[in-house]
Amino acid sequence: MGQHSFIPFALPDITEAEINAVTDTVRSGWLTTGPNAAAFEDEFAAAVETDAHCISVNSATAGLHLAVEALGLTSGDEVLVPTWTFTSSAEIVRYVGATPIVVDVDPQTLNIDFAAAAEKLTDRTKAIIPVHFAGLPVPRHELDTFARTHQLAVIEDAAHAFPVRSDRTMIGSGASDAVVFSFYATKTLAAGEGGMLVTANDDIANRARVMRLHGISRDVFDRYTSRKPSWQYDVVAPGFKYNLPDTSAAIGRVQLERAVEMRQKRSAIADRYLQAFADLPVQLPSGPTEPEGHSWHLFVLRLHPEAPIDRDTFIQRCADKGVGCSVHFIPLHLHSYYRDTYNLKPEDYPVASKQFQHAVSLPIWSAMTAEQVERVITVVRSLLV
Ligand SMILES: *Cc1c(COP(=O)(O)O)cnc(C)c1O
Repeated sequence: MGQHSFIPFALPDITEAEINAVTDTVRSGWLTTGPNAAAFEDEFAAAVETDAHCISVNSATAGLHLAVEALGLTSGDEVLVPTWTFTSSAEIVRYVGATPIVVDVDPQTLNIDFAAAAEKLTDRTKAIIPVHFAGLPVPRHELDTFARTHQLAVIEDAAHAFPVRSDRTMIGSGASDAVVFSFYATKTLAAGEGGMLVTANDDIANRARVMRLHGISRDVFDRYTSRKPSWQYDVVAPGFKYNLPDTSAAIGRVQLERAVEMRQKRSAIADRYLQAFADLPVQLPSGPTEPEGHSWHLFVLRLHPEAPIDRDTFIQRCADKGVGCSVHFIPLHLHSYYRDTYNLKPEDYPVASKQFQHAVSLPIWSAMTAEQVERVITVVRSLLV
């Protein structure tokens, strides 16, 4: 890349190995769900150190939907969701007719605030969907205690949380009913599109496998391996079309082998940023509190009110100087759908409403060169010193 080429906010880290895996798959003739997806499920289970069911899907949104569906959540049920997240975490609650109960977040980690969540409990509250924001997990023991105390099902939105540990346990191998990962193009394991639903519950797994492919009682793996005639199947429910194609699974399998190396690279960038921005009028993101305790999917600064420019101007000036930034997230309660449907007010979410004014995400992707990292630092410092 030339010295003045634009540094995008995110870019997948793709090598010849991923490209070869795709061309091999295309040449094999097996384009839809098949041997690569099956192998990816097994290899992913090993990577998150679980013997639970790993069910590949074509997005995390699909996996989250399958989880709430399999749990039987329905109209009248309430589900706690942090406001600081992508709409997926809450929209899937609406897919099954249940009600997302939007909860404020911790001012430092931007993860769900359990005290705020406790205030929203009613006798209709059935589940909680914590988000491990930016890749810093909600502490495992706090999550488990809250869920056990209030008898809630737990569906972890782990879209940012691979590979990472909480309480020395890999996200994906804990006690939750379901954990859902995203392999969207910008995530820490990029397959283009894709996701993984992890559950140790046989009933949830069986239901999700059926609903993943049209409610057909035998999925495509079985159809090609079982001794029954391959044309035979039964539709037991109006299911969905959520299966992961083998082309994406092939990319995912290579990315899986590289996941720890890619995390190390992001972690090194985060360390460099934390050091380089220590004297700026910004709130820095929290680092990990244990080994492998942060996936560093995102690096989010909060500009202090006394910073020389505001957040929107900062993002514009960064773009002018060739650095792409973004914002994660516009809180749910500020989007018209959630605001108007549930009558949510900014003052009901004092932490998120305030933090949203100041938050900006900097580029932190594993294929960034040292020169690109230093250019981001130079640009950020030139605007904030
Ligand atoms: C990206 C993201 C999702 C959705 O992932 P898809 O695989 O695109 O469906 C869900 N939750 C959060 C927090 C995300 O960042």
